[in-house]
Amino acid sequence: MQQIRVHATVFALIVATSLAAVRAQQPQQPQQPQPTVRPGEPNPTIPGERTRTPPETPNRPATPPQPAPQQPGAPPVDPDAFASTYKPFPSRTTVIRNATILTGSGPAIERGALLLKDGRIAAVGQAVDAPADALVIDASGKWVTPGIIDTHSHLGVYAAPGIQSLQDGNEMTSPNTAEVWAEHSLWPQDPQFDLSLAGGVTVMQILPGSANLFGGRSVTVKNVPARTAEDMKFPGAPYGLKMACGENPKRVYGSRNTAPQTRMGNVAGYRRAWQAALEYRDSLRRWRTAGSDPEKRPARNLQLETLAGVLDGEILVHNHCYRADEMATMIKIAKEFGFHIASFHHAVEAYKIRDLLAENNICASMWADWWGFKLEAFDGIRENIALVDAAKGCAIVHSDDPNGEQRLNQEAAKAMRAGREAGLTIERADAIKWLTINPAKALGIDKMTGSLDVGKNADVVIWSADPFSVYAHADQVFIDGALMFDRNDPARRPQRDFMTGLLPNGGAR
Ligand SMILES: [Zn+2]
Repeated sequence: MQQIRVHATVFALIVATSLAAVRAQQPQQPQQPQPTVRPGEPNPTIPGERTRTPPETPNRPATPPQPAPQQPGAPPVDPDAFASTYKPFPSRTTVIRNATILTGSGPAIERGALLLKDGRIAAVGQAVDAPADALVIDASGKWVTPGIIDTHSHLGVYAAPGIQSLQDGNEMTSPNTAEVWAEHSLWPQDPQFDLSLAGGVTVMQILPGSANLFGGRSVTVKNVPARTAEDMKFPGAPYGLKMACGENPKRVYGSRNTAPQTRMGNVAGYRRAWQAALEYRDSLRRWRTAGSDPEKRPARNLQLETLAGVLDGEILVHNHCYRADEMATMIKIAKEFGFHIASFHHAVEAYKIRDLLAENNICASMWADWWGFKLEAFDGIRENIALVDAAKGCAIVHSDDPNGEQRLNQEAAKAMRAGREAGLTIERADAIKWLTINPAKALGIDKMTGSLDVGKNADVVIWSADPFSVYAHADQVFIDGALMFDRNDPARRPQRDFMTGLLPNGGAR
């Protein structure tokens, strides 16, 4: 939801600045009176915008077109059609010494050491043996943590600059678009990836937006420069399915006089879709039991294929949901149809059902202190994250915002402070889990990353100071053992192509 609100403002600002840049390069034209454009409205001075229909205009067809089913006998389904092509960047054996280490899985280690070898964590502790050829980093006075993992990002799908051309995050054409995949909108040149890297973010889940009951598949990526989305795709990470509760779906579709128009309409929409998915999955099971004759394969349905993947436990549900009662309803729906919700997102009332979340092993991805921007976000409290954590739940600090993603350590610091002021005992070694191992768990990658345990991916941040301080910077960021960012080395501060800018006619790079 934040994206809709935030991007309307950013859109207007960026349009203004980019038009100014273009005009600066062109010969002066006689001044024409310019129409006034309000933020978020189509700008008639921009080519292609004159006839653009605002996204929430009513009178859409009551029954949106459904994806065409594939005919029986078509080529076999290739589950790896968009497989990860990620390759770790070159790395060298590195030992980091004399740091305060927050491992994400145990107590803090004072003046500890960490060995990165062959892209993995090879050793961690008070004293660590390193090969003679290892690069030695003296991190005296510095802190080391696992790379930060954001469960809720729209980088690449709402790329910068925030103009209409790059608004690819929300397929608001039907309440169920489970067949769309975020990776097919993801623009790897989005310069925001580099800014998040400078904030210590090594892994993120890129989600579709929240207008629909079923928004589509998410993709989990490593934060590395790449030519394609698949080059960033975290190997072995499961897909997610974005779902949304509450005000967004009923506002977007209700205002078009189509379903859903109410919260009960939302729930009917979920249940109808899950019932269809059960039947689709069962038809496939019967076909496999009968020998998988290619000529008799049930017609492929890309929308139901995603939902059936959830029922089979292969795709993880990430559910935008604010209110406690609605989250409780979603848990009941999950039980009715036999699937699991990996994480609620935003979850500003998670504290009211923290026992229920813990019992059902459902994570909550939350903000430190965003609330009140709409009615369903009104009952947020700053102790939310700490209270979910104290109830032995899986508490996560997420961003849902390209600026917040650059400072997730500060968001966690605010949440830790609020919990302490409420009387809870929260060590830094615990609070760091809200940014590392807990999000890894929600994304189904906790066996591979999220803590500094031996054998895991060497996704590591060296901070200039206590990461829970506003004065701390990420000094160096490693992904799979490769040094991807170094604040003190311009050669290790990646820039996407877009940042090279425009050149005058005839200019050379
Ligand atoms: Zn979002």
